Amino acid sequence: MDFNLPDEIQQIKQQMRRFVDEQIVPYERDMLDGSDLKPDVRRRLEAQMKEMGYWHISTPEEYGGLGLGLLTRCILWEVMGRTIAIPTRKPQIFGPDVSPILFQLNAEQKEEYLHPVIRGEKRYCFGLTEPDAGSDPSRIRTTATRDGDYYIVNGYKRFISNALKADFIQLMASTDRSKGARGLTTFLVDMSSPGVKIIRTQPTMMDDDPCEIAFDDVRVPARNRVGEEGEGFKFAQDWINVGRLRHGARAIGVIERCLEMSVDYAKQRVTFGKPLSDRQSIQWMLVDCYMDLQQLRTLVYQTAWRADRQEDVRNEAMMVKILGDRMSFQAADRAIQIHGGIGLTPELPLEKFWRDQRSMMITEGSEEVLRMALARNVIREFGR
Ligand SMILES: Cc1cc2nc3c(=O)[nH]c(=O)nc-3n(C[C@H](O)[C@H](O)[C@H](O)COP(=O)(O)OP(=O)(O)OC[C@H]3O[C@@H](n4cnc5c(N)ncnc54)[C@H](O)[C@@H]3O)c2cc1C
Repeated sequence: MDFNLPDEIQQIKQQMRRFVDEQIVPYERDMLDGSDLKPDVRRRLEAQMKEMGYWHISTPEEYGGLGLGLLTRCILWEVMGRTIAIPTRKPQIFGPDVSPILFQLNAEQKEEYLHPVIRGEKRYCFGLTEPDAGSDPSRIRTTATRDGDYYIVNGYKRFISNALKADFIQLMASTDRSKGARGLTTFLVDMSSPGVKIIRTQPTMMDDDPCEIAFDDVRVPARNRVGEEGEGFKFAQDWINVGRLRHGARAIGVIERCLEMSVDYAKQRVTFGKPLSDRQSIQWMLVDCYMDLQQLRTLVYQTAWRADRQEDVRNEAMMVKILGDRMSFQAADRAIQIHGGIGLTPELPLEKFWRDQRSMMITEGSEEVLRMALARNVIREFGR
């Protein structure tokens, strides 16, 4: 067994870490406009990524991207996780985010949706959540009813990220409500279609601005259905696994940065005649962060490596998300405690890490729901 990263990935890590620490971290707070990068900063960083050869890291080579393996992408996400400047729910700086589902479209749909997304001409959002359906998609009430060559879509979605700038939405709607989650189907719906209306944005403590969207008798061409009726989740598993690994990888970067800042501060801050780093209660917080960091890193790298070998990593990906989100939130929380009052201010990145990582335990699969799914697999695997 060799637990070391391959040389070429080590080099990528060193190069990108230098870039993040020298060119982003010192200016990170000023680079932000709400939860996104300021437009001129985004343009500059994206141009730098292109120049350095990190453009379209997730897009397969046959579509003109780099098609990097998951382990390499995890390293990039980890390094980006070190700074609050790189958005959590907006595209990063490696080119347009391309949903893996788009690569599974038919040729005609690829022409209309995938290729423009890759070229940066179209943007999209993903719509599953509704007022009555979040963790439990079987409760989705948005319906798509067949009418000749069209479907008529009616319903209401909420908390939809990136909707304001989206050209189309990957919409989860029910084509057969009697079947619950098995009756769900994915459609590509143009946001400019008559009957699609953004009702409002929802402010959040992370500065994100997800939207509520109404669908009122929206006529969607049947050719915009992805796969067959009832296959809403068929194409999602790879995407879900990758998303969970991305959470874990980002969490490594957050914990590492919080730990570095906390050690530096604890060494220089003197109270009652001694630096904080001499106090056991502070040392234990540092050690907790360190132990979490080592465990998470091992699990994330191993899971990504196995996924690159086409192994089934569903359980590991769930663990990565549960542990990563929780450990990184706790690291930010401990770091704030160690820094005292200054940790609560926007002079340091810690409060932003804390807000962002808190939200991760709810979105894209909450901790409880992941544990529920994991429990089913554990009981099946270990039952006699
Ligand atoms: C900033 C932001 C961006 C988002 N972006 C998107 C997006 O782009 N597209 C999209 O479709 N959605 C998006 N969401 C929605 C997000 O995915 C949901 O909020 C999430 O799935 C949880 O659903 P819910 O809020 O309805 O909570 P609920 O499902 O009502 O859950 C409430 C609580 O109960 C717990 N719970 C639920 N079921 C169980 C159970 N069986 N046992 C124990 N505990 C349980 C949950 O873990 C949670 O803690 C976004 C949300 C936010 C805040």
